[in-house]
Amino acid sequence: MPVKFDSEFAMTIDGELVFSEKKIPVLNPATEEVVAHAPDCGAAQLDAAVRGARQAFNEWRSTSIEIRRKLLEQLATAILDHLDPLSKILTLEQGKALEASKAELLGSVDWIRKTASLELPQDVRQDSGSSAAIRHLPLGVVAGIPPWNYPVNLSAMKIAPALLTGNTLVLKPSPFTPLSMLKIGELARDIFPRGVFSVISGGDELGPLMTAHPGFDKISFTGSTATGRSVMRSAAPTLKRLTLELGGNDPAIVLPGVDVPAVAQTLFWCAFTNSGQICLATKRIYVHEDIYDTFMNVMVETAKAVKVGNGLAPETQLGPISNRPQFERVKALIKDSIDNGHEILAGGLPEQKNGYFIPITIVGNPPENSRIVQEEQFGPIIPVMKFTDVEDAIKRANALDVGLGAMVWGGDHDQAIAVGKRLEAGTVWVNQPPQLAASIPFGGFKQSGIGSEGGVEGLLAYTVTQSLWSKI
Ligand code: NAD
Repeated sequence: MPVKFDSEFAMTIDGELVFSEKKIPVLNPATEEVVAHAPDCGAAQLDAAVRGARQAFNEWRSTSIEIRRKLLEQLATAILDHLDPLSKILTLEQGKALEASKAELLGSVDWIRKTASLELPQDVRQDSGSSAAIRHLPLGVVAGIPPWNYPVNLSAMKIAPALLTGNTLVLKPSPFTPLSMLKIGELARDIFPRGVFSVISGGDELGPLMTAHPGFDKISFTGSTATGRSVMRSAAPTLKRLTLELGGNDPAIVLPGVDVPAVAQTLFWCAFTNSGQICLATKRIYVHEDIYDTFMNVMVETAKAVKVGNGLAPETQLGPISNRPQFERVKALIKDSIDNGHEILAGGLPEQKNGYFIPITIVGNPPENSRIVQEEQFGPIIPVMKFTDVEDAIKRANALDVGLGAMVWGGDHDQAIAVGKRLEAGTVWVNQPPQLAASIPFGGFKQSGIGSEGGVEGLLAYTVTQSLWSKI
């Protein structure tokens, strides 16, 4: 059935379009006006989604992987065929510029396609006069819980591996950005057998209801470290499997010998793309003292030239912060820097007007123990610190209890690689900006997470291993 983009938003539960009496408003962060209402899934509707997913699992697990690949490919094509209306919804609910919404959707299509082409390892080992087939079987019913910064991309990173490996999935987008995924759920209704992929939406109570629900076998969660801890506690009674993709505070170290203006330009966008609301955005920059002034000049000049505005306006490069709680958090960090006398080289606190807009803010060499260095900002503000000795920069980069990504730039490639190897992060990029690929695992060290998404490692996270022995 063709999906209408001007109709009421509905959940897709066990192959049916489902509405709810209670609804949650979804605001446009650029105007603070209501874009639409999303259903507020109640406990009985959640039960129905889990029951449908359990029933569907019995058949889905035994379909061939080739059929699952084909259906995922159809989902990717359906998203591509509806690129324009989906991009518009994504911009209205999330705030990012329309071109950035398109890029997110295209990235999701690519991720689904490339994940669908991955293979699970097939291994037979012989020992002690027997042969054992090492089998990777689906876990069952998965709960997918993504955040609001890349609502479609981070959902695609759960949908493709969960379904390819033969699990069924109930996905719950963030209450701030449920709309684009609700429509993608509707598109999927014509593609997958009923119950294989449901999309539900609701307020703050729905996530905890899901993680405590005994009908789920795995939770794949992307969000903050604080929520990750609650998810882990909530999963304990039934020992649900977990993938936790959590917060970070990614450092970038810039060594002497680089093309300083070019690296400063690149790092500007590493910090500020999506208005800084990216888990792997650069969140602390350490620059060698010999090149610090030139580096800062380029950062500040670039900040002045960038257009921040409503994502639907053609000239907009960066949108607002996506929701009020995050807007207040980022403002509090800027205020803390101002109150502590840090050097604000660009931006600062926003003017009072509609929309969650924050100017691009650059803080010059704040002390290492300041909040803006120690805390994940997840917004358009970056601290840039000076260092003299590379050992000191490495120590400061590794000093936090999170370790998602890290970056090194250096004129001497071997030295940069050597520094990169010593950084405590799940992904390290050397002389290149952050990048993700469906074939390469991505996950956190320390309190940035447990497990990985992407690559064969990401697929295996949706499976349980069975060793099937037989005498030779
Ligand atoms: P969040 O933790 O507040 O929410 C994430 C999701 O969890 C949302 O869908 C929310 O509704 C749900 N949720 C909230 N409380 C819950 C609970 N108690 N039990 C179950 N579910 C619950 O995070 P956010 O503010 O949406 O996202 C920003 C954070 O996400 C940042 O810290 C960022 O670094 C992190 N993030 C990490 C990655 C990664 O891959 N590591 C990617 C993107 C964002």
